[in-house]
Amino acid sequence: MTHTIVPNWLRKRADLTPERPAVILHDNIVTFAELDKRAQSVARRLIRMGVHKGDHVALLFPNGLEIIELIHGLEYIGAVMVLLNTRLSAHELAWQIEDANVAHVLYDLSFLEKVQEIRQNHRLPHLAWRTVSEMMEHPETATEELQMEFDLDQTHTIIYTSGTTGYPKGVQLCYGNHWWSAIGSALNLGLHLDDRWLACVPMFHVSGLSILMRSVMYGIAMVVLESFDPKQVNDAIIRQHVTIVSVVSAMLKQMVDELEDSHRRYPETFRCMLLGGGPAPLPILEACKAFDIPIYQTYGMTETASQIVTLSPEYMLQKLGSAGKPLFQAQLQIVQDGEVQKPMQAGEILVKGPNVTKGYWNRADATAHVFTQGWLHTGDIGYLDEDGFLYVLDRRSDLIVSGGENIYPAELEAVLLSHPAILEAGVTGMEDPVWGKIPAAFVKIRPGQIIDEKELKTFCFGKLASYKIPKCFYSVVQLPRNASNKLLRRELLGLVDATGTRKI
Ligand code: ATP
Ligand code: MG
Repeated sequence: MTHTIVPNWLRKRADLTPERPAVILHDNIVTFAELDKRAQSVARRLIRMGVHKGDHVALLFPNGLEIIELIHGLEYIGAVMVLLNTRLSAHELAWQIEDANVAHVLYDLSFLEKVQEIRQNHRLPHLAWRTVSEMMEHPETATEELQMEFDLDQTHTIIYTSGTTGYPKGVQLCYGNHWWSAIGSALNLGLHLDDRWLACVPMFHVSGLSILMRSVMYGIAMVVLESFDPKQVNDAIIRQHVTIVSVVSAMLKQMVDELEDSHRRYPETFRCMLLGGGPAPLPILEACKAFDIPIYQTYGMTETASQIVTLSPEYMLQKLGSAGKPLFQAQLQIVQDGEVQKPMQAGEILVKGPNVTKGYWNRADATAHVFTQGWLHTGDIGYLDEDGFLYVLDRRSDLIVSGGENIYPAELEAVLLSHPAILEAGVTGMEDPVWGKIPAAFVKIRPGQIIDEKELKTFCFGKLASYKIPKCFYSVVQLPRNASNKLLRRELLGLVDATGTRKI
């Protein structure tokens, strides 16, 4: 097998455009030359700390300069980074650390309590735990050479899936996956010299990590926010010359509300609101249209190193609700019972391309299960319209078959969410002697609001075919979500008897 070897990305970038801003964090600007210097220094200290090429090194950090330096530093060593979701419980973290065969954990002091809990309750021998200040105590004099070239087949990252449909799986992403992901995105969105990409999504997710990758490959700055706050995000877009931002729909809703409350608009230079991570309810897309927000719906997953299907700007309005077409390097098929489907026929979404993972870490079974001749079975259902645009319906595992009809919970949730008294909604199938399954809705109601079943059903009527209208509604205190804030529909039925749940 011939390997494709490329120069170290950050080194190359620092050589090409050293003075350009790489990271903007509050009022701090770090150039590519400075970032490169810091990353090399980090790499040398890590080597002195005992980190070697190929080691699995877990990172537990919020967004900030440190995680960026560490990621580039670990690239200089050729270590594999395991990016940990900081919102996971100590138990979940311990499981991922063990599963990924991690040798070193680097963590931010703000997670000390969680780290102590893991260390007390889980036997993880041979594991070195270090903070950045402990790393800084090591001298910068490395004995090993830094990695000045990358082999595109080499594993760069292991990121666990969100665990929405089952246990999280460690997705292995190689340098080539990240490379092709960034190239595919640029060939669709274009690249402007003055682009600035706002990272308000976490860098431990592929959505945030891919911004870091694009920044260095494209030579554009990433504007970093430690966490999501709608006002801060809008301020950054308006005042810090942000041109592109990656968001999920829950964030976008808050951002649009904040714009409305503060009577503001985004500047014309802001050119792309990249919306992904989950279904995009039509009301949100329409609200964006009203605010002239250039929204690009996208579909992707950890396994595809972020976007794989994105709607091109010229179809933004014409194909509202579509996730678009596969990126330049990628392909897509809709398959049902082994047959490729015709337009408008729903089936499982299969994707293929050089940005798709080669498989899950330590899970040959799961890998074999999801791949057929290079095609990845995404577990999502969708269809292509007559023009080949993808519409994502829902996850296969959440499909409700009621009296022989298919019902997609996401469609019902979007309708319920458009009700002014409903803050959050989740729909799942409930056993029924007549229909097999019936849709049941679980909603979180806005404080101070009262709604009854009749009103809810009337509201759904006209928006949904009658067989899709939920047969029962429950008012709940909280919907079950995972550390990525995704709804866990498989846990909804458990809420029926929970304290605080009330049948509407
Ligand atoms: P797990 O695989 O462990 O169940 P997960 O699939 O939620 O977790 P991620 O890789 O974070 O983990 O999420 C990818 C999933 O998000 C996709 O498979 C799809 O279900 C959903 N998704 C992403 N983009 C869209 C979109 N535009 N429309 C609908 N769903 C989307
Ligand atoms: Mg998944």
